[in-house]
Formats: sequence, C-alpha cells, structure tokens
Amino acid sequence: MSEECCSPTKNSLKANCPVNGVKGKRVQTITLKSLLKPSALETLNSESNYFFCDSIDCPVVYFNEQSQTFTTEEIKVPVFPKNQGEEVPVCYCFNWTPTRILEEIKQTNQSTAESSIRTHIQAGRCGCEVNNPQGSCCLANVRQQVINYQQSVM
Ligand SMILES: [Zn+2]
Repeated sequence: MSEECCSPTKNSLKANCPVNGVKGKRVQTITLKSLLKPSALETLNSESNYFFCDSIDCPVVYFNEQSQTFTTEEIKVPVFPKNQGEEVPVCYCFNWTPTRILEEIKQTNQSTAESSIRTHIQAGRCGCEVNNPQGSCCLANVRQQVINYQQSVM
C-alpha cells in the first residue's frame, strides 16, 4: 500500500527560486489554481511549470522558469513552513495544527496524528494536491513536528 497520499509529481524537474536561489520542487498547476487568490490566479500561465520554494525565510511560495513569482500574500491560506503560527496547519486536509499536535502529546504522551492521517489516506480522503500549498503529502512534515514536540515535552 502506498505511503504517500497524493500521487507525487511524476517528473523530478527542479528549478531555482529567483529570489533566494534555492532549488524548488515541482507542483501541479491544480495546486496553484486551488490556492492562489483571484487577482494572482488571473496572471497564472497554465503552460508553464511551477515550483514551490520551501525556504522558511523566503516570501516566494511559487515560481516558474520565467521568474514569475507568487508570494505568501497571494495565497489564500497561511503557508507552512513559511508561517509556523500555532494555528497554521501542518496537515491541511485534516487540520493538524501545532496546537492540536502539542496538546495531544501533553495530555497522552503520544500523537495519533500520523496514524489518523494514514487511515484517511487509505480511505481515499486525502486531497493534499488542492489543500496543501506544498502540493504534496504532508506526512513527512507531521512526523517531524511530532518528533520536535515529543523532544520538547520530555
Ligand atoms: Zn525562495
């Protein structure tokens, strides 16, 4: 059974963010169509390849090879990991926020986030390609967040 929810983008095409020069991962156009604010969507070039810049300190969320960029202000939702607010989802589909993850760990010393998300993935309920600004499976992010919190609580 597949570990990841959303079919990872087939090609491993990469490009460098025009602002900070860091390599970004390809995202499907459907992710931008779903998450760009209307005024930004009006400038989308559906023929070009878009990439996600995951650097925390870079305002660019998406860019293409023609150096067009969309910044955090042009996205409908706060973007993890650029925004690490307590209510910014790590898992957008099922709303696992840092607060929710941490509260559970404080109360029970464990986290059901990953197993719960996996159950939904297996039931075909996951929609990271339209919900998660990264356009890909959130499990790695969730797992990392859980580890960080377990270490901070212990
Ligand atoms: Zn960048």
